[in-house]
Amino acid sequence: MLIQKLSRISLIRSPTKFSGIHRSSVGLATKCCSKESRRSLSSNHWAQFEMAPVDPIVGLNEIFQKDDYPSKVIVGVGAYRDDVGKPYVLPCVREAEKKMMDRKLDMEYSGIAGDPKFVDLALKFVYGNDSIPILENRVQGTQALSGTGGLRVFGELMRKHGHKHIYVPNPTWGNHIPIFTNSGLEVRKYRYYDSEKSDLDFLGLIDDIKSMPAGSIILLHACAHNPTGMDPSMEQWKEMSETIKKHNILPFFDCAYQGFASGDPIKDAAAVRMFVEDGHLISMVQSFSKNFGLYGQRIGALSVVGRDEDEAKRVVSQMKTVIRPMYSNPPRQGARIVTTILEDPRLTQDFLDQCKGMANRITLMRTLLKDKLAEVGSTKNWEHITKQIGMFAYSGLSSDQVMEMRENHHVYCTADGRISMAGVTSGNVDYIANAIHDVSK
Ligand code: PMP
Repeated sequence: MLIQKLSRISLIRSPTKFSGIHRSSVGLATKCCSKESRRSLSSNHWAQFEMAPVDPIVGLNEIFQKDDYPSKVIVGVGAYRDDVGKPYVLPCVREAEKKMMDRKLDMEYSGIAGDPKFVDLALKFVYGNDSIPILENRVQGTQALSGTGGLRVFGELMRKHGHKHIYVPNPTWGNHIPIFTNSGLEVRKYRYYDSEKSDLDFLGLIDDIKSMPAGSIILLHACAHNPTGMDPSMEQWKEMSETIKKHNILPFFDCAYQGFASGDPIKDAAAVRMFVEDGHLISMVQSFSKNFGLYGQRIGALSVVGRDEDEAKRVVSQMKTVIRPMYSNPPRQGARIVTTILEDPRLTQDFLDQCKGMANRITLMRTLLKDKLAEVGSTKNWEHITKQIGMFAYSGLSSDQVMEMRENHHVYCTADGRISMAGVTSGNVDYIANAIHDVSK
């Protein structure tokens, strides 16, 4: 009895004993972390790591944040801002979130290919409800970690299936190059833009398609080409479609701005739909970052048009073998938001109105910027600012002029002279026009 009592006491007291040991081990840890002991470690696995350069687009924001000039302006990063320069959450997104909260949804894993309902709605959104391959179930896809993740999965999928290279326009969105290089593909460029004329280099583009080896992949920006804002006309798209078909090239569409270019998602999908009608067995990545304003939700889709349902499903099964060891399965919230909107006709209409509102504000800012440049005395031709479409204006400023604008006026755009029109507001347009004029006169 006495022994039992004593052992119970020692058990109760043991935490004190342990906490004593714990204290001394904290002391040990502190010793281990001292500068001297770190220096005396036999090998340091991190010493050879150099500081990586900042990302040319995302890093611009970090530089901007450090600038304490009161009238500083950033027109670098491609995210929409309202007319007072604030981030904008679409009201239809807020409403969808409320609906989702009320449903008390679970937080289970989604499948490797994501939410099938979302994928179905996303594909219909771009290919069209009445698209023949959609009706024949020949279009299949997976949810993607927005545009970037879909591009990466596509790159790896194609590399695994024998492709060695991919053609991208010159210039293209900066991240395309490391995404495909990291997928193990050689990135080749085709002519796209004539900087002298600030216009599409259509003859160069067609010539380059003709010299691509049969079976190559060509990346096409579905609309609102980033960074030039210069899209082919429908006649030019037609000629591209015919040439691509004749030379047996695989068209891969990057659709990051559907609805954001013209304000009408159907119009912005016209090139994609024409290629599909022309019989191309295309592949496509969609992003819902810009049009739905869901940047941080990382929501997109990767799809393929097959000769028949079985073929398309086989390709998707291979996409899943790329996804599973890469990130296992995608997050749920963004897919649920898009699904809640697109399955509800009223919320869909609200989305269409709100997306058009964003596109209209950008178009208005293009006109305003061009007019202000004339007003402040610039005699240069700025016609391309209103000829271009989408989020970006490819100003034609050289990298030296960009740096001068940064240093002297605290106006930040990317080194290639790309101005995010979404960052231009009625409050800062005069200031930006003055800065551009000053460095370009
Ligand atoms: N493709 C293009 C052409 C883009 O401009 C962007 C965004 N800047 C993306 C893909 C990817 O964006 P996200 O990953 O946010 O969807």
